Amino acid sequence: MLSGTSTCNPKELAQAALAPALADGPDQVEPARHGDSRPTGETADLLVVGDIVTNNPAAPTAEAMAISGGRIIGIGSRADVDGLVTASTKTLDPGGFILPGLIDPHMHIWTSLLTYPNVDLSHELCPTLDDVTKTIKEAVSKAPDGQAVCFKNFDPSLYPGEPVLTRADLDRIAPDNPVLVWNASGHFMYVNSLMFKAAGITDQTPDPPGGTFERVDGKMTGVVGEPPAEQLILKGLPQPSMDDIAKYIREILTACAAQGVTSVREAATGALAGPKELALLHQLNGAARFPVRVSTAQFAVLPGHTPVEVAAMWKAAGVTPFSGDEMLRADAWKVVSDGSNQGRSGYFLQPYLGEDNGGKADYTPESLREALKAGLDDGWQVMVHTNGDAAVEFALEAYEELLPQYGDTDLRHRLEHCSFTVDQQLTRMAALGVSPSFLMNHVYYWGAAFRDTILGPTRAGRLDRVASAYGAGLRPSLHSDYNVTEVHPLLSARTAVLRETKADGKVLNAAECATPEQALAAITTNAAWQIHADDRGSLEVGKAADFGVADGNPWAGDHAGWADIAFQATYVDGEAAWQA
Ligand SMILES: [Zn+2]
Repeated sequence: MLSGTSTCNPKELAQAALAPALADGPDQVEPARHGDSRPTGETADLLVVGDIVTNNPAAPTAEAMAISGGRIIGIGSRADVDGLVTASTKTLDPGGFILPGLIDPHMHIWTSLLTYPNVDLSHELCPTLDDVTKTIKEAVSKAPDGQAVCFKNFDPSLYPGEPVLTRADLDRIAPDNPVLVWNASGHFMYVNSLMFKAAGITDQTPDPPGGTFERVDGKMTGVVGEPPAEQLILKGLPQPSMDDIAKYIREILTACAAQGVTSVREAATGALAGPKELALLHQLNGAARFPVRVSTAQFAVLPGHTPVEVAAMWKAAGVTPFSGDEMLRADAWKVVSDGSNQGRSGYFLQPYLGEDNGGKADYTPESLREALKAGLDDGWQVMVHTNGDAAVEFALEAYEELLPQYGDTDLRHRLEHCSFTVDQQLTRMAALGVSPSFLMNHVYYWGAAFRDTILGPTRAGRLDRVASAYGAGLRPSLHSDYNVTEVHPLLSARTAVLRETKADGKVLNAAECATPEQALAAITTNAAWQIHADDRGSLEVGKAADFGVADGNPWAGDHAGWADIAFQATYVDGEAAWQA
């Protein structure tokens, strides 16, 4: 399920491929108002009974939960809630464990659409090169001749000899269809002759600036490098229809629900097509309620516009802080300050292992302040993507200069990924009230690579410091950055406790292991707090009746098994949101 070695997929590619399709979408941002339409009464319209796990330390378990208008009005023993039950109260006894809905406070719907429908060639699904060939052949055989077939997540570095798929290979495997295979990094794609033809590219086509069409003796090999060249290939593919886009969005959100998730934050809304993206989400949620609540972070960057102009664009579309409703709400302002550590473009105080390069910042100090200020001036919570320790430093300096000018706002500004930090940075974050959200499965998937080849063991040990963040008095959350990793909060929490790398099972700096309670708070109450949803994350009187039904209880069980807990259903506002 792991897809890509770059944090946040290449936006310019997704933009080129999807923005024209999105241009047909609605302009007006019109909330559907599902979330706050039902009044809370004195007596329960729904009684939930079973093994209820509350995530409320004062009363960790319950046997009954009384709900009215989507809110919890009583929770405890049967006798505790008896007085709230009337003849018209419905009863739900779902079996299994009833858990508070989990929260992914940073994932991507829009940029994930670029490769969403592609056939998965990840090493997990295709452990040998023969499996790769077989999967391509099978997928192509199901498509009519001439129809393009696309594949994702092929990672040559995981096969002996690091084989690439050449044009000749793909012509042999798929002679009758244009074929495109994405390298898992996103930096390369492999295409066959018919794909070149569909894109109008010949051996004579020059390399675009910043991109390469690999050639041997003047003939293209089929290896296409970097977004400017990849973009020319994407032009040979049909645009997804609005119906396709709508379907993919619902499938992505449904997959979140299947992991017990009831709230997500989309962490770069508008990155492809500006406010039209939010308008479309409202339209879709209006037509049929989403299976999870969506909180959006408005993206500060649109090519050709200053951050101040982008902020004005959102305002003109009717999008202001906390506008929308409790199902779909605009909550934050998103700025990206550096690249990806595994792509060696994260911004570090010291160079990468064995290199002169320490990455670079996406902004000058002045332009970063300008981007933050555009959001702060409009009253947004700000999220700054920071991967390297120098990027954290850079963002902290900007926050330290700007935040005092806005007084005590309780906006709960954040650093996203906040992947590598030095001690005093965490202390300074605490002083500013800026909290980290960690892409925790960096440790699981890339921990060994950071330790052995990218950063060395000492720096790698400073990846995703959950224990130190708690030690500094911070309230960290954990996120997937989907589709960089899968939306699976219990896997993220497991990684926070164990810090095992997938490659060799070794622990990456045991001193940073979270306690089980800390890890679970980071995917529930802390994540809720970070997305300004204080009424979620635990099951208590006054909170939303957002819960999942699972075959295990992570609050009592062995954390090594957390990722294997299966969900049967989720409920949002006490209403069925998803069923297995
Ligand atoms: Zn992201």
